[in-house]
Amino acid sequence: MNYFQDRIKCDADKVCSKCGEPRVRAWDEMKDDEREFVHRMFRPEEARRRTHKWCVLCWEEVGDDAPRLA
Ligand SMILES: [Zn+2]
Repeated sequence: MNYFQDRIKCDADKVCSKCGEPRVRAWDEMKDDEREFVHRMFRPEEARRRTHKWCVLCWEEVGDDAPRLA
């Protein structure tokens, strides 16, 4: 249990809510073949590429809709 909690603490926004692995990547952080896959699967327009992230393991899309203090 501690292992999991530590992982969440240090890598919260990289951990996929679906598969639980810290494999969530922003568009800029992806490799070329990962971008290619996301592009083919989701066809994200530019604004979506900038604000959304994808888990490179299970391809869960993570939107930037978390409440934040502006
Ligand atoms: Zn995942």
